[in-house]
Amino acid sequence: MDQPSITDRWQKVLEQMAAAARRAGRDPADARLLAVSKLHSAHDIRTLFEAGQPMFGENYVQEALGKMAILPREISWHFIGHLQTNKVKSVVGRFGLIHGVDSLKLARSLQGQAEAMDVVQDVLVQVNLAEEKQKSGILESELPPLAEFLAHATNLRWRGLMLMPPFFDDPDRARPYFARLRELAETLRTGFGLALPELSMGMTGDFEAAIEEGATLVRIGTRIFGERGSI
Ligand SMILES: *Cc1c(COP(=O)(O)O)cnc(C)c1O
Repeated sequence: MDQPSITDRWQKVLEQMAAAARRAGRDPADARLLAVSKLHSAHDIRTLFEAGQPMFGENYVQEALGKMAILPREISWHFIGHLQTNKVKSVVGRFGLIHGVDSLKLARSLQGQAEAMDVVQDVLVQVNLAEEKQKSGILESELPPLAEFLAHATNLRWRGLMLMPPFFDDPDRARPYFARLRELAETLRTGFGLALPELSMGMTGDFEAAIEEGATLVRIGTRIFGERGSI
């Protein structure tokens, strides 16, 4: 038997996503796939784009800009890595969605850059629900001032929340975190009168559980592209 191709694996993931949505009584169209292409080639990205995958996620600014320069302009790129304020200039206006806003300082810097460029930048807030020291994401206790800022930022459009739960071998153990993120989004919607439609949660090991718990964007790399090399 031949090895499944990248498009075969992508197709399979889409089927599994749709099945998970249906199990939860959700419309499969409401859970979309972000193909995480960091450390994978422009060639593989082009293959998937031509097969019909519109959105790709990248973690490293220089790598992403290099790929953008040579790939079709119609691709929608999402920035999912940890964003340092000194990289904000390179990111604003180039990525359809920035997933990892996790401090007031970063939000202010993004707002300043978006204003200077006269663009409106879509963003998500990454929340560190498990309060893991080594992980990025804002603590829930520090969320109110950031939420207040984003709710009124003229050049940022706050679209929802993003989560990297603790790593578990058993995806069921991540479920309470997914459910908690959904509840938190609900609280913020009510509190700020915002739509906040997006919940970015679920990766290769746990995307089905995440969709059952309400994910609207799942970020999947390894399951589609295979193992990543190093930088
Ligand atoms: C790399 C990465 C992913 C994809 O991880 P896989 O386990 O390869 O699916 C998702 N989200 C973020 C933030 C990542 O850095």
